[in-house]
Amino acid sequence: MARERQLSRRSLLGRTAAVAAGATALTATAVGPAAAAATRDVDVAIVGAGLAGLTAARDLVAAGKTVAVLEARDRVGGRVLNLSLAGGGVTEGGGEFIGPTQDRIKALADSLDVATFATYNTGNNLLYKDGKKTPYATDGLLGSVPPVDAAGLANAAIVQASLDDMAKTVPVDAPWTAAKAQEWDRQTFESWLRANAVIPSAKFLLDVACTSIFSAEPRELSLLFVLFYIAAAGNESTAGTLERLTETANGAQERRFVGGSQQVPIKLAATLGDRVVLNAPVRTIARSGGKYVVTADGITVTAKKVVVAVPPPLAARITYDPLLPAGRDQLTQRLPMASVAKAIAIYDTPFWRADGLNGQVVSDTGVVSSTFDNSPPDASYGALMGFIEADEARAQDAASEAEVKAAVLKDYVTYFGAKAASPTSFVLQRWNNEAYTRGGPVSIAAPGVLTQYGPALRKPVGGIHWAGTETSTYWMGFMDGAVRSGERVAKEVLAAL
Ligand SMILES: Cc1cc2nc3c(=O)[nH]c(=O)nc-3n(C[C@H](O)[C@H](O)[C@H](O)COP(=O)(O)OP(=O)(O)OC[C@H]3O[C@@H](n4cnc5c(N)ncnc54)[C@H](O)[C@@H]3O)c2cc1C
Repeated sequence: MARERQLSRRSLLGRTAAVAAGATALTATAVGPAAAAATRDVDVAIVGAGLAGLTAARDLVAAGKTVAVLEARDRVGGRVLNLSLAGGGVTEGGGEFIGPTQDRIKALADSLDVATFATYNTGNNLLYKDGKKTPYATDGLLGSVPPVDAAGLANAAIVQASLDDMAKTVPVDAPWTAAKAQEWDRQTFESWLRANAVIPSAKFLLDVACTSIFSAEPRELSLLFVLFYIAAAGNESTAGTLERLTETANGAQERRFVGGSQQVPIKLAATLGDRVVLNAPVRTIARSGGKYVVTADGITVTAKKVVVAVPPPLAARITYDPLLPAGRDQLTQRLPMASVAKAIAIYDTPFWRADGLNGQVVSDTGVVSSTFDNSPPDASYGALMGFIEADEARAQDAASEAEVKAAVLKDYVTYFGAKAASPTSFVLQRWNNEAYTRGGPVSIAAPGVLTQYGPALRKPVGGIHWAGTETSTYWMGFMDGAVRSGERVAKEVLAAL
């Protein structure tokens, strides 16, 4: 059953993306790796048709350059993915929300006529802690901070203010140059929290914020990396804050895309036509004479410049000839993907709304400890989306889909009552198991990585340039960061061509 659904999803998405990518991409898709390899000669070869690669292609084409975008999957969008539902409609398996200061993804969506709508945020959030359910309003002084005990709230407020203040001293384009970079990159976020979030309920709040933002445990992250990520949650005129990362209203979860977020890369790819080649995983990038030879399954592209627009650990799986400088390779050895899955249960109606709930849960237990109301704007059906993150995601990677579904629905019943036990359909997207992503939402840095290897993040190697959300100065880890990185790398390449 699950396999059938997956197959039909795959063919649908393959078809949509292939249509978007144009006729030549269809040919490449149909011919496959066993046939004689096609060849192309272009100004710039781009590896990866996620938002970063597609944005770079758009800008390079607008500047009159020829490009080929080589995409490993049978679809565009990478970490942005619409999943079709059995009863019609789509839900999102990857990047979904946008919010204030995410100007570049918004501008891109506007240019493609992809509209946004407000994430459902009417009614109470739900805190599930120590076996007790506490609904709470989110329009008070505390925003959506769950109502733990007063001492914990006071402690968490101080911690949050400290993090925001420290983040203000971190330059987003070179976090390793912050005055206290060495001190902050010597410790994990966990060790800093233990010293500062001393009230257990405050530590709980910060732990939940950490797993929700990064899909990583605090012990996996350098404090400097966390401060950089906070600093990056803004734009050139507005400083980043932790609140903007965690909030729905006025925060990164504020709005969604009509028709699903993958509409953006699908429509963008359509503007590029047969420049986008699907089913073309790049295996080697070799310098030959004054050019680069980019070899993918089924196609070989020669180019003056190459843009690699895939997450750092995936970029490390490509063979480079000559070898990359040690610093660049060692960087990519040290930026693993975090661990995340999304579980979406579909119901006839968003029944929790009648109980005064907005579908957003924060929990201290369960496979899913954070949820959203993912229903479409017309609420023609109800969708509860739950994140499975960090340790929990890893624990579920090898479980069967039926096992994960049972565990997730048990949590949804705990949070929303017996009606949650019987969805009309259920969709699970486990990013750790995806060949061309291997985790998500973003690459993370442990202590010592940014200060030792950070300068190699964006530094071109000969004619090879690096893009992808992980290289963005603002909104690293988000769709906005991916778009910004595509715009930045296109400028960089144009200046070098
Ligand atoms: C579960 C989840 C939830 C998220 N939620 C949000 C959210 O709500 N809001 C938000 O803004 N962001 C969110 N994100 C993050 C967001 O999706 C990403 O930051 C963004 O999509 C990254 O785009 P990118 O182009 O940099 O990389 P990718 O989307 O990863 O694109 C890289 C592309 O390269 C391809 N590729 C990889 N290796 C090769 C190869 N060797 N050859 C050819 N192609 C290759 C991949 O198939 C992929 O298409 C989420 C991500 C996940 C996984």
